[in-house]
Formats: sequence, C-alpha cells, structure tokens
Amino acid sequence: MLTPNPQYQRLECPKCGKYTIVQHNNVYRCLNCRFRRDFSEFEPTSFGLAIAAGLILLTLIVLL
Ligand SMILES: [Zn+2]
Repeated sequence: MLTPNPQYQRLECPKCGKYTIVQHNNVYRCLNCRFRRDFSEFEPTSFGLAIAAGLILLTLIVLL
C-alpha cells in the first residue's frame, strides 16, 4: 500500500474507494476516477449556505 515516492501521500478516494488520491498543493486528485477536490477554493456547500443565510436575513429586514 505504501508508495515508494515520498512526495505523494496516497489517500483513499471517497468516490471509487481506491488509494489513488494524490495531493498537489491544495488540490486532491484521484488517478482512477478523476475525482478532484480543491481546498484552496470555497466549498460550494458552505458558500451556498452563506448566500441562503444572507437572503433570509435580507427578507426578514424587508418584512420588518
Ligand atoms: Zn477515485
């Protein structure tokens, strides 16, 4: 399971379950299924929640 190359830390892919995830800076990529996650960008879920919370707040301000 261990890779001879110390530059790459192999992690389990959440999509295909294989240890083919390679890390490059803040980007995690799967060599098997092309799964990709960039930790240097905003996560779309939390970003969407922030927008939703802002819209709810604005609606409340308008209604009051
Ligand atoms: Zn994968």
